[in-house]
Amino acid sequence: MDTEGWTEVDRYFADRLRPRDHALTEAVAAGSELPQIQVSDLLGGLLGVLARTVSARRILEVGTLFGFSAIHLARALPLDGRLISLEYSPEHARIARENIERAGLQDLVEVRVGAALDTLPGVAADIDAPFDLVFVDADKQNNPGYLDWALRLTRPGGLIIVDNVVRGGAVADPDSDRPDVRGTRTMVDAVATAVAEQRLDATALQTVGSKGYDGILLAYVR
Ligand code: SAM
Repeated sequence: MDTEGWTEVDRYFADRLRPRDHALTEAVAAGSELPQIQVSDLLGGLLGVLARTVSARRILEVGTLFGFSAIHLARALPLDGRLISLEYSPEHARIARENIERAGLQDLVEVRVGAALDTLPGVAADIDAPFDLVFVDADKQNNPGYLDWALRLTRPGGLIIVDNVVRGGAVADPDSDRPDVRGTRTMVDAVATAVAEQRLDATALQTVGSKGYDGILLAYVR
């Protein structure tokens, strides 16, 4: 089977399990001029299910784009929950904020603009309790730095999720000189160290679907 077939299967499940509502449809339309690199409907659904599973009240996202995954995550929050999403591009952030407002989630979600490694210290200083879930989905070469912050800022019992760790299988190539692959491999090595030190319980899931062949890393903070 190829991407076309995987997309058909994605659609089969998404049509039944993830009915597109007005806000998500509008969000995608409003973001149509931006790169279409948001999570799939089904991965968005998985993020929501995982956020509910850890009873998330505080979520950190690195990489907002136009707010598609942020909407999925924020919908899993209680009314007094909080999602901080970090985005480099002011234009992406502007569209995301509009989408989040259209979804009625503006009281739960804050989009902070800047390079995440520059804005993360401010996030750490501002929060009064650690995050229940951290979703990393930005520039992959900085994944080691994002993991480092996620380890500092996630509570025991919380989850760290990193998207796009497979990249069509490129992650398994030790000789790759692609910055995204190198960043992900260095991040995976750091996760492996934390697993060996019994700080994390982690796994990776290869995925196929409308976004092709990729995968996510899931780490439970012990
Ligand atoms: N999580 C989004 C979703 O599924 O709807 C998709 C995020 S997209 C894959 C990656 C985003 O990260 C882009 O909007 C990009 O501008 C942003 N980005 C890239 N480098 C960044 C950085 N250094 N700091 C913060 N955001 C960054």
